[in-house]
Formats: sequence, structure tokens, C-alpha cells
Amino acid sequence: MNTPESSFRLVRTTELFRDIEAAPRYTGPSLTWRQIVKLEPKLGALHREAQEVRDTGGRHFCANKVWYDDFKPRLKLLVGWCRADDVLSLKASESYATAYAKIYNALPDCRNCACF
Ligand SMILES: [Zn+2]
Repeated sequence: MNTPESSFRLVRTTELFRDIEAAPRYTGPSLTWRQIVKLEPKLGALHREAQEVRDTGGRHFCANKVWYDDFKPRLKLLVGWCRADDVLSLKASESYATAYAKIYNALPDCRNCACF
């Protein structure tokens, strides 16, 4: 459909991608988890919080529900493209992947859930 409204959206999307491509990028070596936490201590707190999550029994436990509902929304504000400030090493996708894996893997495993 080529209404004025959809054309407007297309332009806006194009501008968004141009902005992302033009944005300055971190080109240094990938940060370790320890370096990431030193730069953003709230990620260390988020990791400790994940370590304290328990499968409390019952019929099932889903780590992915906990992750997507509670942890990931907070993670992405601290590390990766959605981080608001200009700490480029923390905005890097490698730092996001490192923090994502570290915190996600601290959650208990899924048990009897239907997420797979
Ligand atoms: Zn699950």
C-alpha cells in the first residue's frame, strides 16, 4: 500500500538506519564481564539478582519468561544499542552479548515449561 502515511514510515525507517550507520562505534577489543561491571555496576547488581532467582517448585518454572518479562528489559537499558549515554564500549553489541549470556545463565534452568 502506498498511502502518504506508509511513505512517511518508509522515510522514517530509512533515516533511522542512516543514523545507526553514521553513529560512532567502539572499535577496541571486546570487554570482559569484569570490565563491563566496572563501567556499569548496575549490571553486577542485575547478575546478583539473577543468581537469587529460585525455581520455587510447583508444576513448572520458565527461565525465559523471567528473562523476557523482568531481566532483559532492564539489561538493554544498561548495555547495547539502547544504552542512552555515549559510553561506546558499553553500547557495543559484543558487550551486550557478554552481559546477556552472563546474566541469563545465572537463572535456574527451565523445568516442565512449554517455551521450547
Ligand atoms: Zn521455559
